[in-house]
Amino acid sequence: MATPQESYLDAIANLTKLLSEKADLAVIGTTKIKQLTAELEAARDKPFNADLRIKIGFQNFKLEKFEKNPDLFKELAKGQSPKFMVFACSDSRVCPSHVLDFQPGEAFVVRNIANMVPPYDKIKYAGAGAAIEYAVLHLKVENIVVIGHSCCGGIKGLMSIPDDGTTSSEFIEQWVQICNTARSRIKSDTSGLSFSDQCTNCEKEAVNVSLGNLLTYPFVREGLLKRTLSVKGAHYDFIKGTFELWDLNFNVSSSLSV
Ligand SMILES: [Zn+2]
Repeated sequence: MATPQESYLDAIANLTKLLSEKADLAVIGTTKIKQLTAELEAARDKPFNADLRIKIGFQNFKLEKFEKNPDLFKELAKGQSPKFMVFACSDSRVCPSHVLDFQPGEAFVVRNIANMVPPYDKIKYAGAGAAIEYAVLHLKVENIVVIGHSCCGGIKGLMSIPDDGTTSSEFIEQWVQICNTARSRIKSDTSGLSFSDQCTNCEKEAVNVSLGNLLTYPFVREGLLKRTLSVKGAHYDFIKGTFELWDLNFNVSSSLSV
């Protein structure tokens, strides 16, 4: 992991490179980069500066993506029609736009602890319900993908809840118990495995519970029946560098390794 100083050095090098490569940059862009480079130089031996990190990140995005794809962003200004709705974990290591190279406009994403889809409940889970309703009925996404991942802290939390159900957190344990049936199934079916292996199995089984929960939404059921919508499960392993994908029928349809 790069230290803040190393990150600054990288950022300075990157910005300087951009500056030298882009003779055609608009004057305003060049001025901004020079200003940022000066700010970076001044900050290199100081503690991490969040504002500066955000400014650099946006500047890089603007130069590398926004200004290089004027047609795309002109089109996106009119509206969005993503093919995918994605449920992913909030974990900072598993951003689906990075892992699956989704570009702006491609995926409507919900991220939460342990990438869980709660069952239809207008009171308890209005946030998730609103996102699914919007994606399916208004954006008319063609695919909903629920992506679990390796070393998921939320799943570890779920698997660590004692059998008597005692919990100590304000929200976390109540939330992850959305997939309590996965926990019970894994505990009884794989009792011979190590806790770590049980967690890996539960990461996948919890995805299956979420796929089942998707069926509690009438507009999802209707989309599946009309074949305008497909529902898929996935598991991203950032230790092995693999991505498994399977359909709602729980059969692994393909497995990709990187
Ligand atoms: Zn996670």
